[in-house]
This record gives sequence, structure tokens and C-alpha cells, in this order.
Amino acid sequence: MPNEGSKLAKKYNSTAEYRMVSLKKSYKVKTYWLLVAGLMLFLNGNGQDYVSNYRLSKVVIDAGHGGHDPGATSKNLQEKNVTLAVALKLGKLIETNCPDVEVIYTRQTDIFVPLDERTQIANKAEADLFISIHVNANPSSKPTGAETYIMGLSKSVSNLDVAMRENAVITYEKDYTSKYEGYDPNSAESFIIFSLMQNAYLDQSSDFAALIQKTFSDNAQRKDRGVRQAGFLVLWKTSMPSVLIELGFLSNPEEEKFLRSDEGHNVLASAIFNAFKSYRVQKEQTSRFVTKQQNAEEAKPETAIIPDSCLRFQIQIFATSRLLKPNAADFKTYNNVSILKAGNVYKYTVGNKSTYKEILSLIVEVKKQFPNSFVIAVKNGNQIPLDIAIKQATN
Ligand SMILES: [Zn+2]
Repeated sequence: MPNEGSKLAKKYNSTAEYRMVSLKKSYKVKTYWLLVAGLMLFLNGNGQDYVSNYRLSKVVIDAGHGGHDPGATSKNLQEKNVTLAVALKLGKLIETNCPDVEVIYTRQTDIFVPLDERTQIANKAEADLFISIHVNANPSSKPTGAETYIMGLSKSVSNLDVAMRENAVITYEKDYTSKYEGYDPNSAESFIIFSLMQNAYLDQSSDFAALIQKTFSDNAQRKDRGVRQAGFLVLWKTSMPSVLIELGFLSNPEEEKFLRSDEGHNVLASAIFNAFKSYRVQKEQTSRFVTKQQNAEEAKPETAIIPDSCLRFQIQIFATSRLLKPNAADFKTYNNVSILKAGNVYKYTVGNKSTYKEILSLIVEVKKQFPNSFVIAVKNGNQIPLDIAIKQATN
């Protein structure tokens, strides 16, 4: 009914506004603390230290379904048992290999946990990552393969079907209409309005999802069905990067055999673990790089008039795939080296000037120690073509 729809839309709009306001607030608070931290570093004369403001130290693993909710079923298999087996194995791998990461489970036994409680566990713990594990099913026995979902509007009917099926578990919960703000698991309209709610951590979620799909296909020989978007209730209110994995189809006899086996569980858990490791390195190193760049700027405040405050000229002394410490011997007498990460390569630079003329006055000196060094231009943390930068700087 149309008026039902607009009522829902109003409800969701106000929630969205509320979330925007609280996001802005927390952004302001974070910016304040970043400035304080930066100032303290500057006063300590510690500007060239690697200080990261991001550590992935807490992960929540959510085994889908459980207890009186079996999830999808086939003749020989219940989804809830596969999700629990893989979740426990994944947790064990993280605990053993990354002892500095705390693993929190939404369930470790065959019990029923409401969807909103799963989200609350993650939010209360202030986790850095939320991994929800599920198994797919289809009326046809043909489809096979793994897919990873992030929150968002479904682009295909099949995504919508998967999410609506997974969301329908709330009917096992008594007061689901009030708990999920009027979400009706049987109404496509309600589902679409709800799917418009975007998770604030969409980029990170999407990066992690892509890594999972890559390891599924590279290490676990799963058919890659890609990263997809749909409105999953369990991802909706998570306040951290979050993904929902559909490991495979228990409706396909071949894949069901794999999903039933201990070997299959091991392969799937270790593929997710490898993606987790890569994601962690990726995010922690990016953070280190950003902080490093900021420190370099704070340690040497510029007094010159800067035509474009985001555009900087630097001298690249060398590039390598290794991440070096700030005091590495490779830098010779330079102790204020910046890093620019491009793919798998770290570019090390010295000097940080707002005009091409200023950087040219430095390069003669730098070339004495690094004969192959050259000028590069950096804008908003990314390298841009030098000729374009020179034009922009003189305009
Ligand atoms: Zn499921």
C-alpha cells in the first residue's frame, strides 16, 4: 500500500539523518584528537616516527542461524552446522596466527541468536570487522559458487532473493516488527526502502569482500560469483566494515558434498583467513602512510604562500617493494623521508614544497647522494603528472 510505503520512507529518512548527524559529530571529535596527537608528535620532535591511528585488533565472527533456525537445508545438510564449523575454524586460525587480534563469536554452539543481537555484540565490542557466514540455496540445483555481500541496493533479482531469504529468519523472533523498524520480510517494497540505507563503511567492506572473493577463487577453487550488494538486516546497523559471505550452494549435489566435509570447512576457513590477513596489512599500512605524510608536514610548517594547499612537489630518491623503517640506512643522511604507496611499490621521497621552483633548489643537493632521484608531484596523497602539476601551481 502506498501510504504504508511513505510511512516507512519517513522512518528510514529520519534514521538516516540521525546517523548523518552522529557521524558528523564523531568525525569532529576524531579530527580534534588527530590534531592534538599531531601537535604532541610535533612538540616531541618525533615527526618521522611511524605512528598508526588504525589497528585491526578486534573481529566478530558471526555463524549464521542456529538453534531452532536451521537456515537453508538439503537432504543431508543444515546451513547452521556449516556456518558454525567454518566460523570456529576461522576464529581458531586468527587466534593462533594473530594473537594480538581478539576474536569474538556471536555463537560458538548450536543456539539461536536474534539478528539484532548479532549486530549489537559487534557494536558493543567496538569491533573493527564483522564477518557473517552463510550458505546459499536455490530452487534449481544448477547454481554453484561463493559470493560476498556488502550492504546496499540489490542490482539483481537473485541478490534480492538471497537477502530476503536470509532476512526472513527474523520471523523466528517474537517482536520482529518493532525491533526492525517496520521491516516486513514478505514485502519487496519494504525491502527496497530498507536497502537504500548505506553502511558508512562501504569502501572498506567492499575492499574486504573483494579479497575474500579472490582467495575463494585462487586458494579454494570456488566459482567466483563476485562481490554483491543487498539489504541484509544483520549488516544494516553494524558500525564497522562488515560482509556477509555465502560459502556455496547446498542445493547443488557436488557443492553440498564439499560443504559437508571437514576438508571443505578447512579450505573455506583458510581462504577467509588469508583475505583477513591481506585486508589487515592493507588497512594498517595505508593508515601508517597517511600519518607519516601528515607528520612530515607538521614537522616542517610552510610559511610560503601556497597556491594550492593540496599540491606538493617532492623528490623521489628510490622505490622498492619493501616497507622501510624511518631510520633505515637506505636513506643515508635523510631522516625526514615520506612514503608514497603505489600498488605494491613504496616510493620514498624527500623535500615537500609547494612550488616547482623551491623543489628544484633542493634537487642538486639530493642528487649528490641519490644520483637517480627526480621530482614528482603529489596531490591529496596521490602522484599526478608533473607537467599538469607545474601548470596548476603557476595558475
Ligand atoms: Zn543464511
